[in-house]
Amino acid sequence: MPTLDTAINGDPDTGADLTPYGGVTADAAWAEEIRSLAERRDAVLLAHNYQLPEIQEIADHTGDSLALSRIAAESDASTIVFCGVHFMAETAKMLSPDKTVLIPDARAGCSLADSITGEQLREWKAEHPGAVVVSYVNTTAEVKAETDICCTSSNAVDVVASIPADREVLFCPDQFLGAHVKRVTGRENLHIWAGECHVHAGINGPELAERAEEDPGADLFIHPECGCATSALYLAGEGAVAEDRVKILSTGDMLTAARETKAESVLVATEVGMLHQLRKAAPEIDFRAVNDRASCRYMKMITPAALLRSLREGADEVRVAPEIAERGRASVRRMIEIGTPGGGE
Ligand code: SF4
Repeated sequence: MPTLDTAINGDPDTGADLTPYGGVTADAAWAEEIRSLAERRDAVLLAHNYQLPEIQEIADHTGDSLALSRIAAESDASTIVFCGVHFMAETAKMLSPDKTVLIPDARAGCSLADSITGEQLREWKAEHPGAVVVSYVNTTAEVKAETDICCTSSNAVDVVASIPADREVLFCPDQFLGAHVKRVTGRENLHIWAGECHVHAGINGPELAERAEEDPGADLFIHPECGCATSALYLAGEGAVAEDRVKILSTGDMLTAARETKAESVLVATEVGMLHQLRKAAPEIDFRAVNDRASCRYMKMITPAALLRSLREGADEVRVAPEIAERGRASVRRMIEIGTPGGGE
């Protein structure tokens, strides 16, 4: 039977101990134990697209965060094991309040979601009475509960455009997506929270322009739902790269575009985990990361050992207070009513 141990891995920004669970090899015995424990717990295993390949392969479903939350809500299983980061598991719990939701490591956070707390949002709202709050889906349940309408970057412009022009709008937490929405809508009464995904802060204008200049025939695939990609989206709009080479695509659409493109090379601006799937889909194309350091350490905390522990111990359980869940659900529902939200991150 595999054993659990750990490796040293603290967070340089906060000092928090982010030592992932380790010491387990994802071999056939592991896979067999995972499957049998999942059956015993009546659990469905969901994995985000940026998870480690071995986690994606053992999962019942892979996808983006909103697609996985919908699958969770529709599943007959009484337990959801969400292999992703914490706000995603919270969203699944909000949409499936009667199910047990487990995340294999509750410390798997998100620097973008952590950019604003419920308390900070309440203070911001107090400074702008009557303003409509629009929040990107990468937010905690508490922030969603303080939000009027959630958005993804696929529908952020539509969501803001649906708000009467004379109402102030507070947009959080992603400053790049906020700047993009402000530019497209031309709306002066849109206030933007200065949050960002620190994991991908390395993708910057000169780097993006340099990569594009080195390879003038390459397509540029941008996944709009991630912190790094929203900064790339902003840069593309600023003219850092020619617009006709820029393709804003969900992860599913990236795989389709990879099979269809005539380009010999593609620059990919998103979490590097996506390269694995793209190379499998179109082995003849040279896929390269705009920034090969753009790897989300939080996503990679869901290790084979963490998943095993989760199923053995029924941990870590995700709980959302019913009143918060109800208000958060309402902001997600309003987003869905306005139009096709696309996927979450
Ligand atoms: S890549 Fe950035 S935005 Fe996405 S989960 Fe990780 S920290 Fe959050």
